[in-house]
Amino acid sequence: MMNRRTTWMGLAAAATGLRGLFAGGPAHAAQPAVAREVVHTEAEWKKLLTPAQFDVLRKAGTERPFSSPLDKEKRAGQFSCAGCALPLFSSKAKFDSGTGWPSFYEPVSRAAVDEETDRTLGMKRTEVLCHRCGGHLGHVFDDGPKPTGLRYCMNGLALAFTPGAA
Ligand SMILES: [Zn+2]
Repeated sequence: MMNRRTTWMGLAAAATGLRGLFAGGPAHAAQPAVAREVVHTEAEWKKLLTPAQFDVLRKAGTERPFSSPLDKEKRAGQFSCAGCALPLFSSKAKFDSGTGWPSFYEPVSRAAVDEETDRTLGMKRTEVLCHRCGGHLGHVFDDGPKPTGLRYCMNGLALAFTPGAA
């Protein structure tokens, strides 16, 4: 695990420089343009995740609105990636968007998530992915509240909540 992780970290660093080449290309490529720090085969992901988590994180599925208990989660704490445990969102940035999906106005850091243009379903949207494992988290829209005006519309299935320090 450590060897693989170290190798991929090096590749990820190299790929960061290449990322610009992919900008503006055909959106929502099936293959990730970024080498990920956490990499598993599809079979490995199926063992690590529940079928519902696999559908969202690895197949860019969308959970039914109002289906996630995290939508109504009001406690202080951290929301991390359900695939690789990278901290992604703080309860401090959470708000009730009324959409039925956990919503945040910003991630814990700009480096925690990647954003890619998604042209599926006849719409142009911005897909949000976990930076470490490339897992699909949801989409970000520009109709959120202050201070950012952004609405990170996340699948609760893609997140794991840890109550405590936010
Ligand atoms: Zn992840």
